[in-house]
Amino acid sequence: MNTSASIPFNYPYLSGLETTYIEQAVKSGKISGDGIFTRKCHTFFEEKYGFRKALLTTSCTDALEMAALLLNIQPGDEVIAPGYTFVSTVNAFVLRGATIIFADSEPNNPNIDVASIEALITPKTKAIIPVHYGGIAVDMDPLISLATKYNIPIVEDAAQAIDSFYKGKPLGGIGQLSSFSFHETKNIISGEGGMLVINDPQYIKRAEIIREKGTNRSAFFRGEIDKYGWVDIGSSFLPSEIIAAFLFAQLEQLDRIQARRKQIWDTYAKALKPLETKGNIQLPNVPAFATQNGHLFYIVCKTLQERTDLIDHLKAKNIAAVFHYQSLYKSPYYAPFHQGKDLPNCDRFTDCLLRLPLFYELTDIQQDRVISEIFEFYKSYSMGNCFKSFKYKTLPKCKIHIKLKIFIS
Ligand SMILES: *Cc1c(COP(=O)(O)O)cnc(C)c1O
Repeated sequence: MNTSASIPFNYPYLSGLETTYIEQAVKSGKISGDGIFTRKCHTFFEEKYGFRKALLTTSCTDALEMAALLLNIQPGDEVIAPGYTFVSTVNAFVLRGATIIFADSEPNNPNIDVASIEALITPKTKAIIPVHYGGIAVDMDPLISLATKYNIPIVEDAAQAIDSFYKGKPLGGIGQLSSFSFHETKNIISGEGGMLVINDPQYIKRAEIIREKGTNRSAFFRGEIDKYGWVDIGSSFLPSEIIAAFLFAQLEQLDRIQARRKQIWDTYAKALKPLETKGNIQLPNVPAFATQNGHLFYIVCKTLQERTDLIDHLKAKNIAAVFHYQSLYKSPYYAPFHQGKDLPNCDRFTDCLLRLPLFYELTDIQQDRVISEIFEFYKSYSMGNCFKSFKYKTLPKCKIHIKLKIFIS
């Protein structure tokens, strides 16, 4: 075996039945949306996680756009969201004219700092969007109390949070609405794909209409009305049966996929612990109220320079490790609109967070290679970095560091 063969960051897992089910869908003569496979997927989520209503969409982005329509977001409304997240979390609301009020991350977790939210609420606040980063839950109880106090709906962006829990409750089942993604980079995939979950029943009827181009076609197909027509605004948010067939083949293997991904996650956490103890890196923080779902494994380096050097080191060893979001409040598009303060924790994760390869088919041998290369990097890094920083005129700090090192060794 070639030990230096490249290790990708992600590789989509196939259960093997995807094309069989797609063929069945095609042969059934019904390949537009809301056929047998879509229903099977809806039932799967409603039964397994107790979601009130699951509706497949063509992406998580679409599910979020549906949420913004369902909440009647209007120009001038404010929406509170984390500054460290994917564009779609907030873009869906910007499309309706909302102003995004970005909140900072927690100091030791990329998730939104719930304690900072109350100060951001105004009479214009129309939604709060917690994102469960890496499938690790936001602290939902205090968030729900706050939202209840001010009567503001919560939309969970659970794109990464399938099969993960907050105090035993499935993520995506807590807010009034929530969104999931089945994009190729997520745990359960359909290429592109997503789902809107409706936990507050007052939104169900209108969600079906918005998803079907503003028509009451879903009720018509259930035989509840004798003709269907244009009754509201909407768009085409439902996926074809081809997508749903693919997705169902994945859902059938959910437990297996989750078990392996969580195992890889645990192995990283355990093996890299000594580097955290030594103070080289920070590992993900899984609070007692949360679970990890093996979605992604990250480490937090000390500086942007250190992360860049580590990425380069791994790349030289044929290992792909990648950083993640760039603080949205500083993005080329939104920076001119951002009214609040700087968000230092978001910026730190922007600069210092690094994701390691994690996918179903990552072998133990490959994972060992990733781990040992990270150790290898830190074995020499502190010293090397110190010499580098001469250039940056941080000599005094460096001297102390060298002294300490000599003292310790
Ligand atoms: C992946 C992701 C999305 C977007 O999902 P799509 O299905 O690609 O639209 C939105 N939010 C978060 C937090 C994500 O990780």
